[in-house]
Parts: sequence; structure tokens; C-alpha cells
Amino acid sequence: MKSYLDQLNSAQLEPTIQIEGPMIVIAGAGSGKTRVLTFRIAYMMSKGIDPFNILALTFTNKAAREMKSRIAAIVGDSEAKNLWMGTFHSVFAKILRIEADRLGYPSNFTIYDTQDSDRLIASIIKEMNLDKDIYKYKQIRSRISSYKNSLITVRAYFQNPELIEADTMARRPRMGDIYKAYVDRCFKAGAMDFDDLLLKTNELLTRFPDALAKYQNRFKYILVDEYQDTNHSQYLIVRALSDKFQNICVVGDDAQSIYAFRGANINNILNFQKDYDDVKVFRLEQNYRSTKNIVNAANSIIDKNQTKLDKVVWTANDEGAKIKVNRSLTDGDEGRYVASTIFETKMQEHVPNSEFAVLYRTNAQSRAIEDALRKRDIKYRIYGGLSFYQRKEIKDVLSYLRLVINPADEEALKRVINFPPRGIGQTTVDKLVVAANGLDRSIFDVIKNLDKVEIKINSGTKARLENFATLIESYQVMNQNADVFELAEHVTKSSGLIREFNKDGTPEGAARMENIEELLNGMKDFVEGQKEIADATGSLAEFLEDVALASDLDNDKGDSDHVALMTIHLAKGLEFPYVFIVGLEEDLFPSAMSMNTRSELEEERRLFYVALTRAEKQAYLTYALSRYRWGKLIDAEPSRFIEEIDEQYLDIVTPIEERRYNPMLDASIFGDVEPNKVSPNKIRYKPAKQLQPKKGTPRKTPENFQATAPKNLKPVSKSSNGSANLFDSKLAVGNIVKHIRFGKGEVLKIEGSGADTKAEIKFETGGNKKLLLRFAKLEVI
Ligand code: ATP
Ligand code: MG
Repeated sequence: MKSYLDQLNSAQLEPTIQIEGPMIVIAGAGSGKTRVLTFRIAYMMSKGIDPFNILALTFTNKAAREMKSRIAAIVGDSEAKNLWMGTFHSVFAKILRIEADRLGYPSNFTIYDTQDSDRLIASIIKEMNLDKDIYKYKQIRSRISSYKNSLITVRAYFQNPELIEADTMARRPRMGDIYKAYVDRCFKAGAMDFDDLLLKTNELLTRFPDALAKYQNRFKYILVDEYQDTNHSQYLIVRALSDKFQNICVVGDDAQSIYAFRGANINNILNFQKDYDDVKVFRLEQNYRSTKNIVNAANSIIDKNQTKLDKVVWTANDEGAKIKVNRSLTDGDEGRYVASTIFETKMQEHVPNSEFAVLYRTNAQSRAIEDALRKRDIKYRIYGGLSFYQRKEIKDVLSYLRLVINPADEEALKRVINFPPRGIGQTTVDKLVVAANGLDRSIFDVIKNLDKVEIKINSGTKARLENFATLIESYQVMNQNADVFELAEHVTKSSGLIREFNKDGTPEGAARMENIEELLNGMKDFVEGQKEIADATGSLAEFLEDVALASDLDNDKGDSDHVALMTIHLAKGLEFPYVFIVGLEEDLFPSAMSMNTRSELEEERRLFYVALTRAEKQAYLTYALSRYRWGKLIDAEPSRFIEEIDEQYLDIVTPIEERRYNPMLDASIFGDVEPNKVSPNKIRYKPAKQLQPKKGTPRKTPENFQATAPKNLKPVSKSSNGSANLFDSKLAVGNIVKHIRFGKGEVLKIEGSGADTKAEIKFETGGNKKLLLRFAKLEVI
């Protein structure tokens, strides 16, 4: 039992064995905060604390699962099973099911995901005849979300003139009405959105003292990872639950607070010591994750922030390689650089794909990276895009199942009432919605009582609606005896979904069928898995809840070897040996939308700190000089963050733009040129600092770029007669030249002018290549 504690240093050991009372561990990235939490729980259990009394809140369900399996390895499986661990949302969804009654909800309430919320808000905007260009549903949703996370209910909203005025000033005077309609409709549909899971928990704990007492007594020991990113609503829940015993242990790093845009409040961590009496504060300083270069570079970055707690982070790990900084001409080139570097590293170091991560600021950036990885046949996975469960065909199946559990579920019903098509048109659905709103009943109720409701529908449609209701009811009957898998299999066939997807014979249809099959496989797994867990019901309701709260990261079974592509926000808490941070350009990262105030910029900088500190061995920073954004090619400048890193930790690698004009690239990598000979990392030019134009100087264009290019690139100047000026000597057709990578060759043709001058050269090895003279390192011999 003792041995696992030996895997902690003395600073880590202290908080691990401090069980009673309020405490906080504030420490930098990679210093073992999560490890302390994990070991602490194991230690508590070894001291006889009932796992039933321990609640651990993590940032992802995946993190909770990993933690649980580590604890199980120390204390044993059966003990660890009783721990309450998971994200705020998943833990409190379970509690709300138990207590739903008190809040007027059915215990089988549906959880609306963002897609459901978006659809409902969009339809409310339409029903209210509002201009959808002013009332943009996504903006409205995020506004409603921020109200809920600040515990501003509809009533509180209407009592707050400032909020009303702010929305009116934003040309959205009907905001409050939309909020009210949205809340009413969710309630009537027996649905909670993600924010409700926290809001309603707060409501439960404040309105019902006996419920508060019950859960205070239950969760005698509370632990929270990534505390810096809790929002107000989460903060209040933790406060309330820990109030009685005050056995609360939070860990976090103020320098990694990156969710302010979603309501996270960095003050929660800064003020923790004021919230409880006799708070014990622990600090960890030794980083175990990264090389000295990475740790020091990250420190030099975060130093630039004014708002921060003083912290020391050092490592006893190796010096490691310097951080590689790469400039590309375009985002496409950037993608190719990432792909070829991964390819070469894999060849040289013999490492699997899973050791690489590519992190970006916005999801849209993944496309260029994906294209390049695909061309190289490197397997990758994108996290945080549309999750599996949000794909159309999967949502279709799930919507039928949701109706089985909760027929009032409006979004599920609207989705499948006429899919597969069964002759129930949009006009009919609109009439049903109006009738349901008028009667304050669910749409399903209205369908079940068409005779008693005033609604103009012809008898054919009426029969079709009744058939639909009967179909759903037949599934409800089946659900009483069948397991999730059996029911779903039956639903996909009898509803006509399979026929519908099979019908078109297109590759898309086939892909949809494969996904449905995968869903059914997952259900089979779920059913089997649940058999082993004593108190699990294996019910459809439980499956749907898991699915609703599963993030993309959670679905990763770790069964295939792939490069991970994700936003930096999602990468929090994770680590990879090789990390690429791409798109390091002004207006992209830092984001153009986050440069208005110092605090916004500081959040961007923290985001960069998080990204860099994910790397264990090697970090790569990349930027492009131009990039497609909003369908246009935009000039870009290197991010200020590159410049902010102390230069001694950087290795500025040469651009590899000529690859773009080199159709032989793959041949040269795979065949006649040894990989390490073409490694771009061997060729250096001066640091990016000199590349960055001073503020106020014109943006970089191909023409003026030459003026700022490092001297050793030896730019080629413009020539009027179709030849080009190279190193002050003319380059002309027939010249024999030497290229740093391709060797000797003969100039066959010169075309274009100015910065776009290209030469077609026949190399002795590797054949013909077209090179952009501006970048090609040619020497006339
Ligand atoms: P982050 O701030 O990124 O969430 P963290 O502080 O939670 O980081 P951990 O993830 O717990 O840090 O630890 C970082 C890495 O260092 C992990 O791989 C962990 O296993 C390892 N580690 C932590 N402490 C030790 C130790 N005492 N001995 C060996 N390895 C350690
Ligand atoms: Mg951690």
C-alpha cells in the first residue's frame, strides 16, 4: 500500500496526505496536480474513507475514467467503483434525475445538446417573426448560456434594467422574450440544456434545505481538478456542498484559465483563500512533463502577463531540443510542413502517430492540416468537431429512442415526425406547435388528442399522425422487456430509417449505414458492460444520458494509432511528446476578437501557455504569411507570441515553400533522397524577430517581403527581360545552377516577374522542378 506514495516528490506528498479541511494546490503546468488528486483519493480510501463519500470533479469524463482506473490499480476495482467521479455536468445530471420531481421535471428528462438548443432557438425566432440576421440563434444561445451560468433566471432578467438595456442597445429588445420562450419550451418538453444541469442543481440546493443536507452528508470529501476554469454556477455548487464539512481540495493553475469566454471566473481560484477558513495552500514547482527548453520558454511567455500569481516552475528533465519555429507561405504549405515533419520524425525516431498532436486556435484551421496528413497517409483524428452522436443519421436514431423515454421531447419529435418521409408536412408541424403552445401541452399530447383540439388538419394527415404516435408507443412497450441494443435494432428497421439510408445507393448513404452499425455496436458494448456493474440498470435512459454528455474526447477508445488534431481549449490537461501549434499569426492567435483589452489578450497568452506546456519533448510553432480566411487570401504577420518567447529557446527553421512547386516531393521523400537530407530543420535563417515588421509599417506583400527577409536568403530581384537577377548576377536559360537540396541542374525556362519569378530547372537527380526564385536557394556555377 505504501509504494505508490513513493512515486511522489515531497512537495506532492504533503497535499496528498492532507485529508481534512479546505486546501488548494496552485501550481504550474505538468507539476503533478492531477497526479496528486488521483493519489490523494487512493490514500483517503486506504485510510478507511468510504468511496461513497468522495466526489471528484474533472474537466472531461475521459479524465475521470483514467483517474478511476489508476485508483483501481492501487486500491482495487470493487472499491473504486463506488467513487463519484466525472464532469460537473455528468455528476449533477445523475443527481437531478433523482431529484427531478422537486423541480417539476420528469426523472427521465431529456438533455438537449447544443444542436437541439440551436434548433429550438431558431424556431422560436421564426415563430416570433424576428429578423434572423439581427437575432442570430448562435449568439442568442450563448447569451442565454451566460445568463444561466451567472444564475440570471428569466425572472431575474426582467427585473434587471441594465441587462434589458444592454440587449436593447445591441438591437435585440426581444431578447428577454426569447429567453422566456426558450425556457418555457424546454420545460414543457421535459428537457434540460447543459447549463440547466448546473442551474437546476443550484436551484435544488438553495430551495430545498433537506436536499442540500443530504448531499452535504453524502459528499463529505470533494475534490476539483482544473479549478481555475469553474464558472459561477459551478463555484456555487461546490461552495454549497462543501459548506458543512469543509473538506474541499481544489487544484488549478491561474495561468491556465482559458474559459472566460464561457463564463469561467479566474477569481474563483484567486479568492479561494477568502472563501474558507484556515485554507492550506500548497505549491508544486517541479515539472515532470517537459524538457528544460519547453518549461523555460513557457515561463518566459507567461511572465508577460500582469494578472497572475507568482509561481516557480522548473524541471530536472533534459535540456531537450529547442522549439522549432517554421514560416510558410500559405496555410497549405503549413499543413505540408506539419505532415512532412511528422513523417520524417516517425521515420527517424520510430514513434507511433499517437505521440503527435496538432493544436490550433479555431476548428476551421484543421482542414489544411487534414489535407496534408491524408496525402501522406498519416492517420489522424479530429477531436471536438461534430461528435459521433451529433451526426445526422445517429441523431435520427437517437431521436426515436429519446421519444421512447420522453415523448414530450419537442426537438426529437420535430426531427423524426417526418423522417423517413411519411407525408406529414412542415405546415402540419407548424400547426401542431401553435396548438401545443396555446394549450401549454407537448406536441405529442396534441397528437394524442387531435379530436379534442382545435386544429385544421385533414383526415389523411390525422391518420398519419396517429400512426406515428402508435409507432412510438409500440417502441415504449418493447422497451419494457428489450435491452438498448435490441430496441435500437428494431427501431432502425421498423421506422424505415435503414431503408431510407440504403435507398439512394450513394457513398454518403453507405457511410451513414456504417455509422448506424457502429452505433449499434456501441450499444451492444454498453449492454455487456452494464451487466458487470452491480447497480447499473443498463437502461435506455442511462444510455441516452451517457451519450448526451459524451464529449468527443470521451469516445476515444484509444484503439487506433492516430495523430490528434484539436483546439487548444480541448487539449487542457493532456500531454504529447510532439506538439505542433499552428497558425501563430496576429489576428488568428491572438484572435482578432480578443485584442481589445489587456485582460482578453492575457487570456490568449494563457491559451498559448497551455498549448506550449502540452509538449513533452518537442514543440513546433508554425505560421503562414498568407492564409485563406472567409474565402479570401489574407496577408498575415507572425504572432506576437513567437516574439515574446526568449530567443535562446528557439530554433528558427528555414521556410520550405519550394515544396509547393515541387511535384516530385513525395518521390524525393520516399525514394531517392534520404529523409534526413531533406529535413527542413537543418537549414536555418535568422529569428522571426527580424521578420516582424514594426507596427505601422505596411503589411507584408510578396514585394516588400524581400526587404525584410533575412540576409542569408539572398532574394532575387526583378528583371525586365525574362531573366532574373540572382546574387547580382543574371540567371538565364541555359545556366547551370546548384540547389541546396536538389543538387546540380540546368535552367530550362524562366517565367513570371518580380516576386513571382519562377524557373523551371532540370536537376540531374529528381527531374524537372519549378522553383520560385524568391525562395529557392540557387547558386549559378
Ligand atoms: P496540467 O497543469 O497540464 O494539468 P498537472 O499539474 O496536472 O498538469 P500531471 O498531469 O499530474 O500535471 O503530471 C504531468 C506529468 O508528470 C504526468 O505524465 C505525470 O505522470 C508526471 N509526474 C507527475 N509527478 C511525477 C513524479 N513525482 N514522478 C514522476 N512523474 C511525475
Ligand atoms: Mg492536470
